[in-house]
Amino acid sequence: MRPTWAEIRLDHIAANYRSIKTLVGEKVEVMAVVKADAYGHGALPIATHLEKEGVDWFGVALVEEGIALRRAGIKSAILCLGGFWQEEQAHDCIEYNLIPTIYRIDMLDTLNAVARACNQQVKFHVKLDTGMGRLGLSPEQLEEFLRHTTACQQLLLDGVMTHLAAAEEIEKNDFTNAQISRYLDCLRLIRKAGFNPHYEHIANSAGTHGWPQARGNLVRTGGLLYGFWRDVISPISPPPTLAPVLSLHTQIILLKSVPAGTLLGYGGSFRTTRESRIATLPIGYYDGLRRAYSNNGRVLVRGQSAPIVGRISMDLTLIDVTDITGVCLSDKVVLIGQSDNLMITAEEMASWIGTISYEVTCALSQRVPRFYLNSPKL
Ligand SMILES: *Cc1c(COP(=O)(O)O)cnc(C)c1O
Repeated sequence: MRPTWAEIRLDHIAANYRSIKTLVGEKVEVMAVVKADAYGHGALPIATHLEKEGVDWFGVALVEEGIALRRAGIKSAILCLGGFWQEEQAHDCIEYNLIPTIYRIDMLDTLNAVARACNQQVKFHVKLDTGMGRLGLSPEQLEEFLRHTTACQQLLLDGVMTHLAAAEEIEKNDFTNAQISRYLDCLRLIRKAGFNPHYEHIANSAGTHGWPQARGNLVRTGGLLYGFWRDVISPISPPPTLAPVLSLHTQIILLKSVPAGTLLGYGGSFRTTRESRIATLPIGYYDGLRRAYSNNGRVLVRGQSAPIVGRISMDLTLIDVTDITGVCLSDKVVLIGQSDNLMITAEEMASWIGTISYEVTCALSQRVPRFYLNSPKL
């Protein structure tokens, strides 16, 4: 096997989940958001482990992702955050017991027709757009939506949700407050119209942390579960206790000395300024080490920091190990994680290329094998 791999600490994700549970208290359920293959961590092993920890809910983006969880034996409630696209997926929701999010009036008709054909009562959550401007029913449409819901006899409105756009940005507190109050107005209207949805949910990770008054009775956390917080929550109050879950590793497969003035990699974009030791790593942009890290990042070797030099190519990357004491062929290299006293977090790595931690782990391709550990690897 190529010596490039990710390690995923199941004990850490379980601890993060318990930390979130403690933060929100007993009256609030926690949805583990495992869309996009659990932000690149691997949805099936993560969900299987978290279900044993007693997770109340899982959140997926696609119906297909929900089906994969059911096929892997997941029994907890699953919410499809992205709804469904066509009648066929509406049918899948019923068959696999996935709760769809609905954000258009015509989706009610589709789901109701399929539910009638299956002779079932079907629960759904309505998603309201209170300011994010992405997915959701506009509050102006709500009354018409509710009239329509009443006419759909097979359907049960069991949850009312919205999504916060800027819960981590203190400068936008007024905006977040406006989103929350728009949501509460809608909720009042829904209850006044005689509906009795069980679930009220607004908060993502940033909302869960920074807006305790907006937790409703269910929070939808992704980032915090994976141990991300530096670029996820507002710095205004301390983060809950979280441990990083994913680390990324490789090994030196070629080590050489080159004279000053040597050009390295495609385009010769790096020129050595001294006699240098250069190491080749078997990881590239197809693995998710984005090309934007060319001459723009560092890795850890023997508890020391080594810069990425030259362009990242599809399968290979070069680092300058001139200053690494004792460097050897086959030395382990850490791209995300800890090496002795030094650490590179996904958040830090993200900051080098102007993105967020989520994108760093989501980018890791299927070519990178994931190893699931329940305690540190020795
Ligand atoms: C992805 C997503 C979340 C989770 O967001 P985090 O920032 O990872 O906690 C919550 N709600 C919805 C609707 C989402 O799409």
